[in-house]
Amino acid sequence: MKYLIKINLKTIKKNKDFGNYQSIIPTNKTIKFEFEGTSNLPDYFKPDNNCIIVESIKKFEIKVSYLIKGYIISEDLLKKCIDEKLNINLELNQNYITVDHFPIPEYSYKYINTLLVCNNCNNKIKSDDLKSDEFYDYYSDKVCPKCGAFDCCDITYESIENALIRKSNKNTYKSFNL
Ligand SMILES: [Zn+2]
Repeated sequence: MKYLIKINLKTIKKNKDFGNYQSIIPTNKTIKFEFEGTSNLPDYFKPDNNCIIVESIKKFEIKVSYLIKGYIISEDLLKKCIDEKLNINLELNQNYITVDHFPIPEYSYKYINTLLVCNNCNNKIKSDDLKSDEFYDYYSDKVCPKCGAFDCCDITYESIENALIRKSNKNTYKSFNL
């Protein structure tokens, strides 16, 4: 028995950024801080462990005062500063990197979860449950979920081109009926 697994026409979506082969993804955050006070930074600031101090000035005017600038490099320390309502200026910057990938296809879509019968164990299985496996150089995405047989059924997946034709025919048919 041969099966044709059709595309669910309702799931066809045109990708607006199709052809793109680069994405911008968020990476780490930089948290710059500036602290000014009559005492030094609290003990929970551990330089080179949860923060980096880039500038530290101790002023002796009427009273002693500190001006400390640097980066917080731990989420816990950031949370602590907020929880303790520490009088500190924070500046958060989200950093990004650009990654290359396969070009985004013009359409994305899902196949209909189709009922099949395994050639080996004769059990009824659903196409979405098919497993994939590798055996030496041989790869199969038609492994039976019940008995583990490789290439357990003879299936063809409908191409997006055919599905688009079906979809446009259906729409034409619908408009004739109006
Ligand atoms: Zn089977």
